Parts: sequence; C-alpha cells; structure tokens
Amino acid sequence: MSTWEEKVHKVTPYTPGEQPKNADVIKLNTNENPYPPAPAVQKAIAGFDYEVLRKYPDPAAAGLVCALSDTYGVPADQIFVGVGSDDVLAMSFLTFFTSGEKILFPDVTYSFYDVWADEFRIPFDTVPLMPDFSIDIDGFCKGTAGGIVIPNPNAPTGLDAGVDALEKIIRSNPQCVVIIDEAYVDFGAKSVLPLIEKYDNLLVTQTFSKSRALAGSRIGFAFGSKKLIRYLNDVKYSFNSYTMDALTQKVGSAALSDPDYFKMRCLAIINERERAKKKFTELGFDFPDSKSNFLFVHHPKVAAEDIFKALRENNIFVRHFDGERVHDHLRVTIGTKEQMNALFDFLKKYLEGRD
Ligand SMILES: *Cc1c(COP(=O)(O)O)cnc(C)c1O
Repeated sequence: MSTWEEKVHKVTPYTPGEQPKNADVIKLNTNENPYPPAPAVQKAIAGFDYEVLRKYPDPAAAGLVCALSDTYGVPADQIFVGVGSDDVLAMSFLTFFTSGEKILFPDVTYSFYDVWADEFRIPFDTVPLMPDFSIDIDGFCKGTAGGIVIPNPNAPTGLDAGVDALEKIIRSNPQCVVIIDEAYVDFGAKSVLPLIEKYDNLLVTQTFSKSRALAGSRIGFAFGSKKLIRYLNDVKYSFNSYTMDALTQKVGSAALSDPDYFKMRCLAIINERERAKKKFTELGFDFPDSKSNFLFVHHPKVAAEDIFKALRENNIFVRHFDGERVHDHLRVTIGTKEQMNALFDFLKKYLEGRD
C-alpha cells in the first residue's frame, strides 16, 4: 500500500539571502535599498485608520492601481498588482506557462524561475549566457518556446540587454507570453514598457522592493495588454482574491506620491555604483558593467568563497552563489557611501595581507 508521503508534491525551495539578527551587520547581500522609503510612507502609516482593518481590503487594490496608472501613464485595466513581484511572477507562470511546452530563461539568472517551474510542473530549458555573461539573444529567437522570462537588467550579472535586443526576442515569439522582469530597471536601464502597446504577449513586471525601498511591504506590479491582465486577474481571483492588505495599499500609493524623493535616491545609488566600479577595479576585481543596484565581482587571484567568508567574519554580508558559472563571483549590493567605504577599507587590507 502506498503512503501519504508518496503523494506529497515535493519541491526544492528557493534559498533567500540571509537576514542576520545582528543590527551591526553591513548588509549588502539581498539588494535592498540602503535608504528609507519616502517620508510620505511614514505619514501614511501614522495616519492610517486602524478600524479599516475590520473589513476585507479592496481585492483590486484600486487606489494603488490608480496611482500606478498616473505615475506610469498606463490605463488601469493594463495593470496588475501583487504581493511582491515574486507573487506577480508566480501568478504569471501559473497563468501563461502551463501549456506543457518548454519555457525558456537564461542559465544564469534569478534563481526563483526554476523553483516556480518545478513547483508548477512546467518543463523548461535554459539558454546559456554568452562567455561575457550577456544574454544570447538569438538563443531566445527561435519562436518555439512555450513561454519566456528574462530579467532586465539580469540578476545576478546586472547587465542590461537593451530595448532593441529585447524587442527582437518579443517579436520573434508571438506564440507565447514573454515576461521581462524589470526588478532593477530604475537604476539606469531603459524599460520596455512602451512596447506593451505593440505586442499583446508582453508582460513587464516591476517591484517596490528595490528602487522604492519597500521590500518589507511586498508590492509588485505588472503591465501588459488588457487581455493579459484580465487572464492574470482571473487566475488570481480563483486562488486568493485578498492578497494585498489595506495598509500596504496605502503605503504603495504614498511611495508613488513623491517622485522627487524617488529620483534622488535612485541617483544616489547609481552614483555610488559608478564609484564602486572604480574602487573594485583598483582592487583588481573584474565585473560585468552593471546597470542595477549591485555588482557581480570576481577576483582573478583570490577565490570568491574565501573573500565571502572573510567579509562575513567581519560583519559584512554579501551574496555568494553555488553553481558552475557563478561560484567564483560575489554579488555585492550597492549600499550607502559609508557602508561601501567600510567594504573597500576591509578588502584593501585583506587583499594586501594575501600578497
Ligand atoms: C528581487 C527580485 C524580484 C522579486 O522582488 P519582490 O521583492 O518579490 O518584489 C524579482 N525578480 C528579480 C530579478 C529580483 O531580483
């Protein structure tokens, strides 16, 4: 006789970056924003009427959708919101990628894609990045995939493929939905958002977690044709309609209400990233030319894992991934100038000590 355990749907879960309890840690390991959210967010929380929580939240998050519509100039019926872009992406995999045909994503990319594929029993192939870690555009243009998902800029490389190359991929695949995951687009890459008018199979996802400093609130969103958004909502409402709580809906709208603050913080991170490129180069590191809020660095003489451990012992957390093509790299989130200076001071001494 079979046991209940044989009937369990077994999956290998995604491994999130560590969240250390110790507050002294310089935390450059999960691509969080080093700055606080917009001051309007604090006001929204302070002014929030707790009695509202008696009722179910608006399942359509209409206030937030309306604020997104104003901010991005996209009609409300072409916007979908979810509990972080992880929720939006998982829902999209479930809605668009379950035909049984193989979906495609890069071999080195956001490590949640293969987890969702396994979770939803979606077959997939990976398209290897080129030796310089850029996306193999032609590898995605065969027109036979059951679905495509590509982050731009890609994670953990930080490279921006450019709108023209991405449009070529979208144009070559009218047979499936193409998702461009723009989690890091606000740090200097150009968005493919205008292309949703031209291609009804394009879904563009973004998040408040990185550029808007709201990882803790879990707000993600997607833009696409009316049809795509309707299909997404149908699946959402047949699964769990009240995904985003009432306070989070207010927080999201508040964050969008201060575009100057948003631009100022993004610019500070971009400037710090460019300074970090010079510093890492001086220290002998090489890295792809990132347009995101992190750098994917490699040292030709010292193993990434050794650097990772030494940093960790000194309370500086960065991210190290296993895997053949990436184990000798470290992904370093761009922090404040002070945090980055502490990192560079340590690395300078550490590397000198090894000569
Ligand atoms: C961080 C990240 C996400 C998910 O962000 P949420 O916090 O769930 O909004 C999605 N895609 C990529 C590539 C990311 O790096």
